[in-house]
Amino acid sequence: MKKLIKISGEEKKKQKIQPPPTKIIFEYPSSNTEEFIKKLYEEMGLQELSNGIECMEKEVESTFSKNLDFYIKEEALKKMVLHCYEMAKERKEAMGFLIGDVKYWDREYSVVYDIATTSLDASPFYVRFDREAFENLFDKLDEIEYEYILIGWYHSHLGYTSFMSSIDLETQKKYFNQPFHAAIVLDPIAKDMKAFRLMNGDCVEIPFAIFK
Ligand SMILES: [Zn+2]
Repeated sequence: MKKLIKISGEEKKKQKIQPPPTKIIFEYPSSNTEEFIKKLYEEMGLQELSNGIECMEKEVESTFSKNLDFYIKEEALKKMVLHCYEMAKERKEAMGFLIGDVKYWDREYSVVYDIATTSLDASPFYVRFDREAFENLFDKLDEIEYEYILIGWYHSHLGYTSFMSSIDLETQKKYFNQPFHAAIVLDPIAKDMKAFRLMNGDCVEIPFAIFK
């Protein structure tokens, strides 16, 4: 299988024409995120987390897009939730990559099928988005043959809800500046989750759907 982690113009032309997933179990913003994550916790046998940390990050302004063009497979979400949850128990932020595909139907949309966490690396990893850490992860990903592409990243906030901070936005601009690149911010303590993209250099909050 060809390595497709870093999508190029050439690969993008081969974009698949396919209708988006239909077995939707959650849609943001029309459904309640806190209730949904609470239900996930019950399903996964996770206890509620308390004791968030004080917010050190400042929220950047974002607009809201109405077009649903971002889909996340339930299993990928569960992996992401578990990663953020386990790290939050140790009072650490989690970070990882979104692995999926870009497709086209009535418009371009992207689908998350899996995540790549830092467990790819044997050594412990802290979420501070410095260059070296990112490049290490990119290198690790390059060594693995995926049939999918890198369509964004996720990270957690510890109890101060989900938003893009100025550091997060910098990260997005530096490493995830393609129109299909998304950022998921998950707060396993506040049970909040939001998704963002860059549009013309601005931070835009986007709707998303979870599917089975
Ligand atoms: Zn953040």
